[in-house]
Amino acid sequence: MHFQQFSLLPSLQQAITEAGYSTPSPIQEKAIPVILKGHDVIGCAQTGTGKTAAFVLPILQHLAQHTPQQHGNVRVLVLTPTRELALQVEQTFQTLGKHTQHRSQVIFGGVSEVNQIRDLKQRPEIIVATPGRLLDLVRQQKINLQAIEVLVLDEADRMLDMGFIHDMKAVLKFIPKKRQTLFFTATLPDSIQKLLPLFLHQPVQVDA
Ligand code: AMP
Repeated sequence: MHFQQFSLLPSLQQAITEAGYSTPSPIQEKAIPVILKGHDVIGCAQTGTGKTAAFVLPILQHLAQHTPQQHGNVRVLVLTPTRELALQVEQTFQTLGKHTQHRSQVIFGGVSEVNQIRDLKQRPEIIVATPGRLLDLVRQQKINLQAIEVLVLDEADRMLDMGFIHDMKAVLKFIPKKRQTLFFTATLPDSIQKLLPLFLHQPVQVDA
């Protein structure tokens, strides 16, 4: 299996090569084609399996191939349990998107909002955020989520363990119903299975 088989844009293919990835990891092999088709996905994968690139690559392809009706909106939202993961995910968007033109920004709590609000004026298309601070800024109308096309819940099981369920549900109220949702989790206990219909529409499950 080669990355070429996904028919990704040359700009993405080049970034993959420059990142030193030679072959797709199992989760990438299974998830990328399904995400490219536009399905909702439950991705069961631990950290270290290449799960981040498994959603970043098809999202970058989607952004490049679909012109939004209106420019300047946030089109992709990735929720993560921690600021460290938010920074890592945003870094992957930077690395794999280096030959594309899609601005990304991280949003997390524990630091002053001022700089984050200032940076939002650059109009990022991609926001990678922890749920609490994101909601703060949405409620202050500093972030508008009405044009979200893709929602990613990364390490969703950890987000739920950390008590973010109310924030995750609240975020949904600000996001269009018609969207693609990608739910990545290391574990899928019954307690999470029963929450899936809240987030996902006819999901395809892929395992690492
Ligand atoms: P993740 O599971 O997303 O945290 O990724 C773990 C590490 O694997 C990261 O440092 C990635 O840069 C790296 N990585 C992701 N995909 C590949 C690949 N196909 N080949 C080699 N390294 C990869």
